Amino acid sequence: MQTQKDTLFLDRDGVINVQLIGDYVKNVSELEIREDFLLSAPLLRPFFRRMIVVTNQQGIAKGICSVEEVENVHSFLLQFLLKKEIIIDKIYYCPHLNGSGCACRKPEIGMARQAKADFPEIDFENSVMIGDSYTDMLFGKNCGMGTVFLSNPDGSFCPEIKAQSDYIVSSIYQYTKML
Ligand SMILES: [Mg+2]
Repeated sequence: MQTQKDTLFLDRDGVINVQLIGDYVKNVSELEIREDFLLSAPLLRPFFRRMIVVTNQQGIAKGICSVEEVENVHSFLLQFLLKKEIIIDKIYYCPHLNGSGCACRKPEIGMARQAKADFPEIDFENSVMIGDSYTDMLFGKNCGMGTVFLSNPDGSFCPEIKAQSDYIVSSIYQYTKML
């Protein structure tokens, strides 16, 4: 077995749960956890010291969902996964608008800084970011992490994404086979 890595940073929408096209997950009934995540997370967990979610949630700034609704969804998600013995150490979210100039919306690294404040022992160079957006890959690279791009069902991705991705996989399960 390969030596244990430090932290697996995970995007939320499109990685852990099914992304709602043109909408935001506002409550638990709209949260559909992806089968490949449920299958893969227990396989990934032993390879990492911790798993942390970093998610952009500009639906809050748009007034589409409230901080309380997002936090309720996250509380449910953590409890649901814990019952399946999938431990997520913490979820960080950015509530700000794209273009707001905040320090926490990916690809800015504010959420990584928050994680470092909570878990000072985090070693970014020995950590991995997995996500389904270009901004996830940039976030990972901006933090000095390895990056894994989860491609769309049609497998399409642009050259910019390829340049920032150490691995490109069609499912998170595929990544479990690479560890
Ligand atoms: Mg995503």
